[in-house]
Amino acid sequence: MDRNSGSLGEFGIIDLFRQAADSPGRAWVRAGIGDDCAVLDMGGGTSLLVTTDLLTEDVHFLRSGASPWQLGWKSMAVNISDIAAMGGSPAAAFLGLGITPDLGEKFILEFRDGLMACAAEYRVDLLGGDTVRCRNDLVFGITLLGRAPADQVVTRGRARPGDRLMIGGAVGESAAGLRLLGDETGRTVRSADREHLLKAHLEPRPQVALGRWLAREGMARAMIDVSDGLLQDLGHICRSSGVGADVDPELIPLSEPLRRVADAFDVDPLDWALGGGEDYVLLFTVPDDLEDDLCRACRDELGFSPIPVGEMTTGPAIRVRRNSQWVEAEPAGFTHF
Ligand code: ADP
Ligand code: MG
Repeated sequence: MDRNSGSLGEFGIIDLFRQAADSPGRAWVRAGIGDDCAVLDMGGGTSLLVTTDLLTEDVHFLRSGASPWQLGWKSMAVNISDIAAMGGSPAAAFLGLGITPDLGEKFILEFRDGLMACAAEYRVDLLGGDTVRCRNDLVFGITLLGRAPADQVVTRGRARPGDRLMIGGAVGESAAGLRLLGDETGRTVRSADREHLLKAHLEPRPQVALGRWLAREGMARAMIDVSDGLLQDLGHICRSSGVGADVDPELIPLSEPLRRVADAFDVDPLDWALGGGEDYVLLFTVPDDLEDDLCRACRDELGFSPIPVGEMTTGPAIRVRRNSQWVEAEPAGFTHF
């Protein structure tokens, strides 16, 4: 039977390629399909990190919902986040553009400026790309190279039972921003809340400094960035590491704007925090005796402290505490098909 992509699902499709790819590949390949970046051994103690992410119109963004500047920023930022998730520093980008013939120069220039602003902030050079005509929808794809000392690369696969699970920042706000963008009913929301949440959704700030610091200090055992939703991305760490996790929702900070807007939409803000996605914060595990030192040292070094949200278990389930009972988490988060 010929299954369609809808029933294969995003990860089913990826698996078709993973099965055919040499794994792990030639001698310089330290990690291929299955982590936030591929990891290539460059010799001299350095690893090259490579990632690529596409943004497509009407799936990842609406032309009406984001300024071209924001689309440029976000296209770059989501890739940088994957480099951060391995503990690396971003370095060089290649830009793939699928452009519809009606698109104006003004749009392209604004997009360029957003992209280059993000590149400048994170010290990325734009070194090439490809430009093609598309019939209906815009497509922005970036391939990003980064680097890290070979012995500091942090994968998804080394979490251990008993590790503390931590997040690097707020989750849920991006999903709230997305909901505001899609709202045609004009619900009453404070304009400062709207601005804050839209910014979280449209101008994410990948946590490169945190990822680098965790890697340098050897603090994180496993790490991923939250792009598809906390529980779904945690699932990737669990499967790669062969462990489970218990997440305590009471530990997850929910900002006031998030709570207020969730209330206006009659949504449980935790649904956005656990399943919303596009937060681009780091989710990582640390040996449990390091938690206090880590929080203190991170506050001193970077001015903020990561937030413990649970712990890794022998698994394989991911469980969430609900009314003092641990229950297996429902599948949540973004999937393409
Ligand atoms: P992320 O959310 O961190 O960008 P994804 O969930 O998109 O990661 O991808 C998971 C893994 O599958 C990554 O290692 C990625 O490089 C790989 N992958 C995704 N699509 C393809 C594809 N079409 N061919 C080969 N590998 C792919
Ligand atoms: Mg990722």
